[in-house]
Amino acid sequence: MTDIMDGDPPCMVAHDYLEQNAVQPIRECYPSGSVSLYVPARKIRALFEDKPLGLTVESLFLCPCRRCTRDGGLVEKRSDCFNERRRPQELKGEYALIYALLIHVLRPGLIQMFQKYEIKLEGTKYLSDVDFDNLRHREKIVDLGVVQRKVLDGQYSFLVRTLRPASDIVFIPAKELLPIKEDAELKGEGTFAEVRCFEFQDEDYRSRDFGPVRSPTG
Ligand SMILES: [Zn+2]
Repeated sequence: MTDIMDGDPPCMVAHDYLEQNAVQPIRECYPSGSVSLYVPARKIRALFEDKPLGLTVESLFLCPCRRCTRDGGLVEKRSDCFNERRRPQELKGEYALIYALLIHVLRPGLIQMFQKYEIKLEGTKYLSDVDFDNLRHREKIVDLGVVQRKVLDGQYSFLVRTLRPASDIVFIPAKELLPIKEDAELKGEGTFAEVRCFEFQDEDYRSRDFGPVRSPTG
C-alpha cells in the first residue's frame, strides 16, 4: 500500500486511498447508465478527519507536486489561503465530496476555485455544465473541458443520495447510483413502473425516517 512515507505526493496517496475504498454495489435491476462504483461518504470523512496514511487536510491542500502547484499556486500562497476564513472546516464539511472528487480526477489544486464560486456536491444537487460557466469565463484553468467532463461523470460515485420515505413518486435519474439491493421477485405492476421491494446495502444512505434498523434475527 502506498503511504506518505514512500515519497508519493499527498494528493496521490489520497487518490489511492479513494480507489482502495470504492465499493461496488450489488446490482440486478439497475438502469444500465448508472455508475458501477461509489466511495462511501464515511470513507471520505475519514480521509479528511482521521489522518489515514499520515494525511491531513492541510498536507493535501499544501501538496507540493507539480500539478497541485500549477492548479493551486505556490505552496506559500496556498498556506496563507489555508488559514483564511473557515477553510479547514469547509474542506472537511460542505466541500468534502467535491474535494474528494477533484482528488480522484487528479486536480485537487483546483479546490480553491470551486470554493470561490461555491461549486459543491450536497444533498441531491448534482452539477451540470452551467455550474462551470464562471470557471470557463473568469478563470484560466488548464484543460478545464477535461476536468468538467470527469467531474460530471464522476459525481455519481461521490454524491449518493440518502433515501427517504416519500408519499409521492420521486424521479431519480438513471445515472444515479443507489446502494440498495432490489428484490428479484416482482411485487406488482404500477401505472408507471414495476414495483419491487429492496434492502439497503449501506445504512449510511438510509434515512432515519424509515424507522430503526432491524437486526438480522428480528
Ligand atoms: Zn499534488
